[in-house]
Amino acid sequence: MSQTIVIVGGGATGVGAAYHLHKQVKAGSIDAKIMLVERDATLGGKAKTDVIDGMVIEHGPDSYLSYKPWFGNLAKELGLTTVGTNPHCKSTYILHKGRMESLPVGMNIMIPTEVWPFLKTRLLSPLGKLRAGLEPFMPIKKDDEDESIGSFVGRRFGRDVLEHVAGPLMGGIHGGDWENVSIKCTFPSFPKMEKEGGSLLLQGWKNKANKPKSTTGSAFQTVQAGLQSALLKAAEVARETVDFRTSTSVTALKLVDGKYDVTLSTGEQFVADAVILAVPAYVAADLVKGFRADVASALGEIPYNNSCVVAVAYNKADIKHPLNATGFLVPSGEPLEISASTWISTKWPHAAPEDKVLLRCFVGRGPGKDWTKESDEAIMATVKDSLKQTMGIEANPILTKIFRWPKSMAVYRVGHLALMDKVDSLMAQQPGLYLAGAAYRGVGLGDCVREGTTAADKAMKHLGWKA
Ligand SMILES: Cc1cc2nc3c(=O)[nH]c(=O)nc-3n(C[C@H](O)[C@H](O)[C@H](O)COP(=O)(O)OP(=O)(O)OC[C@H]3O[C@@H](n4cnc5c(N)ncnc54)[C@H](O)[C@@H]3O)c2cc1C
Repeated sequence: MSQTIVIVGGGATGVGAAYHLHKQVKAGSIDAKIMLVERDATLGGKAKTDVIDGMVIEHGPDSYLSYKPWFGNLAKELGLTTVGTNPHCKSTYILHKGRMESLPVGMNIMIPTEVWPFLKTRLLSPLGKLRAGLEPFMPIKKDDEDESIGSFVGRRFGRDVLEHVAGPLMGGIHGGDWENVSIKCTFPSFPKMEKEGGSLLLQGWKNKANKPKSTTGSAFQTVQAGLQSALLKAAEVARETVDFRTSTSVTALKLVDGKYDVTLSTGEQFVADAVILAVPAYVAADLVKGFRADVASALGEIPYNNSCVVAVAYNKADIKHPLNATGFLVPSGEPLEISASTWISTKWPHAAPEDKVLLRCFVGRGPGKDWTKESDEAIMATVKDSLKQTMGIEANPILTKIFRWPKSMAVYRVGHLALMDKVDSLMAQQPGLYLAGAAYRGVGLGDCVREGTTAADKAMKHLGWKA
């Protein structure tokens, strides 16, 4: 065993890579020393979970997408139970002029597939509805140029749909900045629909008419014991062949004779034959800048937003609100500092005992004020005030937890795909070094596990093993 592979970062990407390599070692497909180095004391990266008084409290992500199956497959393979969102409660509210309005039934983000709920909704003005209805007559974009979510939705369905429905839904996932976030990178199916079939509205209706009533589960899934449990379990299994170094950082990386000289915060220094950088792009940029200034400069072009999540729990007896939805979104035009609130105990009934109400609030929005720098008191005052204004909650919480995530959300700006092609071509000139993770071609947990697995395969191939 003379070859060494080092994975830097123990989030979904890094643990995904480590677990995949472990399976290859067990299968006899590779014989190498594998080490994973993680700065934090625990593995999981942004997937961190607390279980307190029967409540499953996620610090960062609370779900993965079922149609990006790689995270869910990992959890299931490890024998963990995965669950979809509450089948009895699928609606979501959007705050509109200070009132909670339901997202119209049949709304596929921007495409209204049911007429009556769309005509009835108070989220859109009569003119806005008329403009959306004219979508089939809007010109089809001829070129392949990337554009923002704002430009795409505005062009096809009008500003009203963008600002009051699609923007909050789409932008919420991708940092709230829909005028700069690339539609091609974040929701590629919509530009593809336009290119291949013209009107999205007509295709949406046609697809709905042809589609059998869905018997499959929710698009959003989670792990019953918490998302981090899947990564901890994967690491527990992989520990047999992988050396996990927690509370340790990689502080320097040097290129020496086609191999990589790795320095750890412990002072250790050794040579690796392959390195997988499963860290945020700005960390990767810092590590490679000494020998790949071009890669570092390209990675430096990926902006990151901050995020601040607050979990609040109450005794159910103290809450009068019916909590009859998965939560609510707050469009940027509303005068409120929180951008969303997820009603966890409704969305995921397993995540709280019946006599408790568990909510999560996202404070601030992508490119705006950096709430991670605010005091606990200021953050909690904002959350309590927002919940009072919107849900009438005045009770004292039985638990509050603030999770600050500075520089945590890679923003896929217009042109991100072209930037990624450039990064890929530069990295092709750097054999043995692989970039993987949320910064590149998918921010979700599923994409991260997929990226980690792919990077592990590339590292194996580089070392002469059959991936
Ligand atoms: C608030 C929030 C909510 C989200 N919600 C969802 C959701 O519901 N669904 C979803 O799919 N995705 C969601 N995401 C996105 C998703 O959580 C992340 O994209 C994903 O977890 C990133 O995984 P990763 O392994 O690529 O990076 P990370 O989880 O960031 O892991 C990178 C690791 O590298 C370590 N590290 C950094 N520098 C070094 C170094 N020098 N040496 C060693 N280790 C280092 C860090 O400590 C970290 O653990 C959310 C993200 C946030 C912040």
